[in-house]
Amino acid sequence: MSFYDEISKLDVDRFAQLVESRTDADVERALAKGSALNIEDFAALISESARKHYLKDMVMASMQLTRKRFGRTLNMYIPLYLTNLCSNKCAYCGFSSDNKFARTVLTLEEIEAECKAIRDLGFQNILLVTGENSRRGGMDYFRQVLPVVKPYAAYLQMEVQPLNTEDYAELRELGLDSVSVYQETYHQPTYKAVHLAGKKMDMRYRMETPERLGEAGIDKVGMGALLGLYDWRVDCCALAMHIMYMREHYWKTRLSVSFPRLRPAAGGYEPHMPVSDSQLVQLIAAWRIFDNELDLTISTRESKEFRDMITPYGITAISAQSSTEPGGYANKGQHLEQWTVNDDRTVEQVVRAMEINGLKPVFHDASTTYIARNPA
Ligand code: SF4
Repeated sequence: MSFYDEISKLDVDRFAQLVESRTDADVERALAKGSALNIEDFAALISESARKHYLKDMVMASMQLTRKRFGRTLNMYIPLYLTNLCSNKCAYCGFSSDNKFARTVLTLEEIEAECKAIRDLGFQNILLVTGENSRRGGMDYFRQVLPVVKPYAAYLQMEVQPLNTEDYAELRELGLDSVSVYQETYHQPTYKAVHLAGKKMDMRYRMETPERLGEAGIDKVGMGALLGLYDWRVDCCALAMHIMYMREHYWKTRLSVSFPRLRPAAGGYEPHMPVSDSQLVQLIAAWRIFDNELDLTISTRESKEFRDMITPYGITAISAQSSTEPGGYANKGQHLEQWTVNDDRTVEQVVRAMEINGLKPVFHDASTTYIARNPA
C-alpha cells in the first residue's frame, strides 16, 4: 500500500485538532523522548503550547542534535534553472502556463555557460530546476543535459517534473544524486483548487514520487510542503507521516526537508495561511527533534536577517546568490524569474555571515566523485 493509499484513509484536517489539543505535558514528553517520536509528539512540538512555553528549549535541543549529527558543516548549493516552460497551471506560481511571457529552454551551450558561471562562484552542489514540460523539458532533454552539467557537479540534484522509476534509474546512471519533489499540500480539496491544469493535477502520482525514487536507488529525496497554501500544521503533520513511511519502507534513502513559504510571484497569488517567523523557527526545531537524521534546507526565499538567525538552529544546507531565472548567472535579466529572491547577498557575504555564526560552509563533499573539466 502506497503512502497515498494510507493518507487517503485519513481526514487530514484532524491533524489541526490534534495539534490544538496538545498540552504542555505532551510537549515535555516529546522533548524528553530523544528518539522514536511519533505523530502525537510532532503535533505537540508544532503546537501553540510549544511555541509559547518551550520555544527556547526546542531551539537549544535542535542546535545540540544538529551539532552532534552534522557538526558545524553547512552544505552550500545553488539552483540552475534550465527552463521556465511549464504545461501546468498552478495558481501560486510565476511559471504557470496561463501567465503570458516569453518562455525559454536553455541550449546545451547556454547550460555550459551557466555551469562555468556557477563554478566561478565556487559551487559544486548544483540543483537543476525546470517547470514541468515533458515534450521540451523531459527525459530526452535531461539525457543531454546531465552529461554537460555533471563534470561541474560534485553533487547533482534535480527539482523537475515527477518521473517514473526507470527514468530515475537512468538519470542515476548519468550522475543524478538527489531529487526534490514537494507535495505542496496534502489537503486534497486545496490541492485540487490550486492545480488547475496539466499533469500536476494527478495528486497520487506526485505523492508516490518519493517511493519511486527510493526504488530507483536515488541517494537523497527532498520533501516538503509549500507553507501558506493550506493550514501549515495539517500539511506538516501529513509530511511527518510521509517521512515516517519513507523511513520504514526505504531505509537506505536519505531524506531532506525544506520549508518554503509562499512568496509573491507573477499572477499575484496571496498565501491562504501565512507562516510567521516564530512559527517557522518552531517548525525547524520540531523537524530536527522529530528526526535527527533529516537534512534541513533553507533557500534565498527567506530574508538575510532570518537566514542568519535561523541557520545555526538546525539547518544543514543553504543556497546563496541564487537566480530563479533561466540563464540568470551568465546572462542576467533576459527572462522571467520563478519567484523573487529575498536574500540577494553575494556568496562571499553569505559565507562570512555563516562563519560569524560559527558554521563551516562546505562547497564540495569530498566523499563524492568530482571531475573538473576546466578547473579554475
Ligand atoms: S509550480 Fe511547478 S508545475 Fe506549477 S506552474 Fe510552477 S513550475 Fe509549473
